[in-house]
Amino acid sequence: MARAMEASPGMIAAPTGAVMVVGGGIAGMQASLDLADQGFKVYLVEKSSAIGGKMAQLDKTFPTNDCAMCTISPKLVETGRHPNIELLTDSEVLGIDGDVGDYRVQVRRQPRYVDVDVCIGCGDCARVCPVVIPDMFNEGS
Ligand code: SF4
Repeated sequence: MARAMEASPGMIAAPTGAVMVVGGGIAGMQASLDLADQGFKVYLVEKSSAIGGKMAQLDKTFPTNDCAMCTISPKLVETGRHPNIELLTDSEVLGIDGDVGDYRVQVRRQPRYVDVDVCIGCGDCARVCPVVIPDMFNEGS
């Protein structure tokens, strides 16, 4: 992994190295944003179909009773739009080879059954789909 360049406040440094963050919950997103802002190319691997993790499912957070979505929403948007972050959702790490500075990671990506380059996430296909499956976001209900 190469050293990242210093970036001025408010600027995003150009990618100078690559890192992988496994897990797209609040901790993984913040780690990715911090690394990406320092100029690293970040591959954020998340096994489910969306980033956000458990916090995205919560209403309030302990102990301050803050609105969870108010906290996490800006980070979801920032992570999704950051030019130095590549999201790999529906993906799992199968193995890691190599040594410090030269790792090779094998990642399995689940099929999407849609063209992700043109899908805008409007949800029209889900609304007319006759197949009902458990809603994983709502813990299978
Ligand atoms: S209907 Fe909407 S959500 Fe479904 S594949 Fe097409 S663009 Fe994507």
